[in-house]
Amino acid sequence: MSDANFISPVPLYVSGEFIHSSSTHWIEVTNPATNSVIANVPCATEREIDAAIASAAETFETWREVAVPERARLMLSYQQLLKEYHDELAAILSSETGKNFADAKGDVWRGIEVVEQAANIASLMMGETVENVAADIDSYSLIQPLGVCCGITPFNFPAMIPLWMFPMAIAAGNTFVLKPSEQVPLTAMRLAELFELAGAPKGVLQIVHGGKKQVDYLLAHPDIRTISFVGSVPVARHIYQTGTHHLKRVQAFAGAKNHMVVMPDANMGQVVNHLVGSSVGAAGQRCMAISVAVLVGNANEIIPDLKVAMKKVKPGPSNNSEAAYGPLISRAAKQRVLQLIEQGKQQGAVCEVDGSNCTVAGYPDGNWLGPTLFSGVTTDMAIYQQEIFGPVLVCIAVDSLDEAITLINTNPYGNGTSIFTACGAAARKFQHRIQVGQVGVNVPIPVPLPFFSFTGWRGSFYGDLHAYGKQAVRFYTETKTVTARWFDEDIPDGPNMTINLR
Ligand code: NAD
Repeated sequence: MSDANFISPVPLYVSGEFIHSSSTHWIEVTNPATNSVIANVPCATEREIDAAIASAAETFETWREVAVPERARLMLSYQQLLKEYHDELAAILSSETGKNFADAKGDVWRGIEVVEQAANIASLMMGETVENVAADIDSYSLIQPLGVCCGITPFNFPAMIPLWMFPMAIAAGNTFVLKPSEQVPLTAMRLAELFELAGAPKGVLQIVHGGKKQVDYLLAHPDIRTISFVGSVPVARHIYQTGTHHLKRVQAFAGAKNHMVVMPDANMGQVVNHLVGSSVGAAGQRCMAISVAVLVGNANEIIPDLKVAMKKVKPGPSNNSEAAYGPLISRAAKQRVLQLIEQGKQQGAVCEVDGSNCTVAGYPDGNWLGPTLFSGVTTDMAIYQQEIFGPVLVCIAVDSLDEAITLINTNPYGNGTSIFTACGAAARKFQHRIQVGQVGVNVPIPVPLPFFSFTGWRGSFYGDLHAYGKQAVRFYTETKTVTARWFDEDIPDGPNMTINLR
């Protein structure tokens, strides 16, 4: 789909209608490969947000009564439609993120997998039963939906992350208000159209747009029960603190600094390929990107090979199948990464490959950055301490696996990590001792499939229950425990004055 299709106001999706916002405040959506404006997204008014939440609350009363297999069937139809429209969704996603087409398809695919899992909702919502907890008394639990749930999503996975949230919440019997990233609202709108086409009743999903002001209004709204957030650390903290202050259930997924440990016995050909792909893929704009290579002992000798491999990788527009990755999301994002690269040089790291001056023929205004590699990095440098979120890999040399584990456990983040080794004992020690929620063994980006959950730890996550899988069902539901007796003969005489069942 060409840019021209989108030079239009992005609608809100309220009560099952795509409506034009009456807001006076609009934000430009740009194609990061050209910086041309492809759409305008409104900052929804309080009235519009109230209308979306009221419609979601009203719809909840009927949606919660819809039979569980019927809700599951909606998800079956939806995943089928998402597959049919996979290319079109990826094209929209590429136009607003700049991701190359294959990676954009991957973004959609990882979301489809969650919808497939949401179709298993009946088995995920089974309660527990114990017969005869006292004479003739049984106890069993019911898993029930909560009401109106809300999701606030980032720019870097416009399909996958909304799909982490609303299919599981809605399959569990809730209704959902989504506030997509104002930088990439178009994919979410198409997801909503397809959801309706799949048979979703009007009002089950609502979409409102905007930035901080709209998010803060959602966080304080009395009719919203849960907040699911994915984004940067400062905003995640704000969301968790404000949402819980308003007594909501909150899960807030935050930024990351993911380390890959390379042991001297690893297959170095594999290591080089995986380090390049996982650090600069998607221009490094993945929360599970590897941004630190921890080279143990002789593994430090891979730097010349890494340098050669990094230099071969070129960014480019999404329609160029040779391009390894796309532009950064915005001029501001590029400027931020350039400053960090400069700081790295000033603080004494060795810039082995410098992608600062990167151009792409035919796209003079894109937010391009070439692959960048630093060696000799120490933990006091800004390029180690901050999440760069660009195609930049920093290398730290250590003497032992123990030292690598201590380094990672001392870093405030805990989203993902991996070890490359041929030694089972080293891998076993690493997986056991590392204080990170998602661990890869010879797998660089260990994003769990949706029958598990996405389990970031420490500074990369605020909350208890994680995204998708069984944990999401618990997040989006309440457990009710019933204790029941049916009399077929007289119980012992007189009132029972104790707490015991009899
Ligand atoms: P962001 O925090 O800037 O924005 C995320 C959402 O929050 C957007 O919808 C935005 O409108 C809203 N927002 C922005 N500022 C706000 C404020 N001050 N108050 C309230 N709401 C606000 O994040 P981003 O730049 O869109 O995404 C990139 C970040 O997301 C990176 O840090 C990345 O690591 C993180 N991320 C984490 C995960 C994970 O699972 N841990 C996954 C993807 C992305």
